Amino acid sequence: NLTDRLGRVVKTIRGQARLTESNTAEMLREIRLALLEADVALPVIKDLLANIKEKALGEDVITSLTPGQALVGIVKDELANIMRGGNSAFDTAGQLNLATQPPAVILMAGLQGAGKTTTVAKLAKWLIRTQKKKVLTVSVDVYRPAAIEQLKTVTAQAGAEWFASDISQKPIDIANAAIDWAKKHYFDVLLIDTAGRLGIDEAMMTEIAGLHKALKPIETLFVVDAMLGQDAVNTAKAFHATLPLTGVVLTKLDGDSRGGAALSVRHITGVPLKFVGVSEKIDGLDPFDADRMAGRILGMGDILAIVEEAQKNVDLKEAEKLVAKIKKGGFDLSDFRNQITQMRNMGGLSSLMDKLPAQMAQAAAKTDMNAAEKNIKRMQGIIDSMTPLERAKPELLKASRKRRIAAGAGVQVQEVNRLLNQFEQMQTMMKQFSGGKMARMMGQMAA
Ligand code: GDP
Ligand code: MG
Repeated sequence: NLTDRLGRVVKTIRGQARLTESNTAEMLREIRLALLEADVALPVIKDLLANIKEKALGEDVITSLTPGQALVGIVKDELANIMRGGNSAFDTAGQLNLATQPPAVILMAGLQGAGKTTTVAKLAKWLIRTQKKKVLTVSVDVYRPAAIEQLKTVTAQAGAEWFASDISQKPIDIANAAIDWAKKHYFDVLLIDTAGRLGIDEAMMTEIAGLHKALKPIETLFVVDAMLGQDAVNTAKAFHATLPLTGVVLTKLDGDSRGGAALSVRHITGVPLKFVGVSEKIDGLDPFDADRMAGRILGMGDILAIVEEAQKNVDLKEAEKLVAKIKKGGFDLSDFRNQITQMRNMGGLSSLMDKLPAQMAQAAAKTDMNAAEKNIKRMQGIIDSMTPLERAKPELLKASRKRRIAAGAGVQVQEVNRLLNQFEQMQTMMKQFSGGKMARMMGQMAA
């Protein structure tokens, strides 16, 4: 990947006092190959390399004690710049323009399976949670009643409201009915989910262009699967030629994709990236962050994402309560189980692994993550097989009780013993920490 390649170049350069025309040329060749591998489109690479070259030969790098690192920094900045569109207008992540007479209409466009319906629900939740908006959703997919039902389900999960489409009507009429309803009931935002096709198709384009013309949405978001790589760019281009997009949502970034599509889509269409989809779950949507995406493309991993994830899932109040309990010496197996559960709530260990920097992930890959998750489930199973009294007073657990618990959890008695050992270790460790340190440590543990 890009980081491996850069790493090699950096090593070569490190031995040399300065960047020269010739080692710069070698480095640019490597970067070019790496970007191609990351699915970045050719014209983007050309521009990128020109900028990198200019900066690399500049004073800052040449006089730097670590030209290799300075270089990586430049590459990262340039990647981020491209995704920002070279200006700061969209510097702030996740800008949705809602400044209009309510309801602010947001039209979703994209191929089938891109993640439109899922993204509508995620956006609804985001708008409710962070912008305190009243949100209505509607589907104009009159061809697939199942798609309308799907939207109904996910809208309920988001805590938003759903407008029932009358599928005997035309998409534009359905949308207008939803707008009327939204006006009458004081909704701030109306999200319109549309029908997708498997590929670019004349009928679909005509329909969505017609919807756009009639509804004049303040935002027209193009939803695209990051795994499509180069194809994502072609699709985005085709859509943008037919209807003026105001933003792109790049979905399924939790997959293998390195995010090269983000670079190309932004550079080639000029449409800003506004959000990224990072899981199937309803809160798996993040405002787009150019620096973070540049890091990801570089393979530096996404430390920030992990920290945020940890903050989202670890309930600080709970942590403080726990600290108080520990101080009184009351940390028992029920608390231990909560602790384990919090770790699992982080979206599973393996999903966290995706966000680690490449080297760390490689080391971690040697430990079998599936096995680790299974282990956590088994530990929960063991604790679940205990009575509340046993959880509160583990010292009660003598041989016969252990046998009963093992049988209940479907494990060997040794595993019950192992769990009790782990619990004791944790208890001892926890007693050694004071309050503030403790809460912080728990945050780290969960991460
Ligand atoms: P639509 O046809 O464009 O409406 O696509 P859907 O919203 O029905 O999504 C298609 C599939 O992609 C579903 O299985 C979603 O759960 C999944 N999906 C959507 N967004 C993401 C994402 O960001 N990450 C992952 N892992 N899956 C996603
Ligand atoms: Mg759909």
